[in-house]
Amino acid sequence: MAGKGNNDVRRCYRNGCRWPASASLTYAYAQKVVRIEDLTPQPHPAAYDLCAAHAERLAVPLGWLKEDLRVVPPAVTPIRPEVGSWETAADASASGA
Ligand SMILES: [Zn+2]
Repeated sequence: MAGKGNNDVRRCYRNGCRWPASASLTYAYAQKVVRIEDLTPQPHPAAYDLCAAHAERLAVPLGWLKEDLRVVPPAVTPIRPEVGSWETAADASASGA
């Protein structure tokens, strides 16, 4: 455990949120656009680190646009259908013909 103090997991900047950051938020004041991008490799002075949930739910100021430029899908996965229904579907198509 040699000192790596600065490279700890980056956390969401929201108060009280302890999730690791997965997106970086920047404000383009000239265009009135809020950009959500994949987490920058280095902490950026003009960017805020957000967790997936907060990036998802981010509300932008009135008159501003929200642009999601992430290429990595958010870590929040939707609820998957029951495994059983997959098997049934596979079964039906296999024996169906
Ligand atoms: Zn958060």
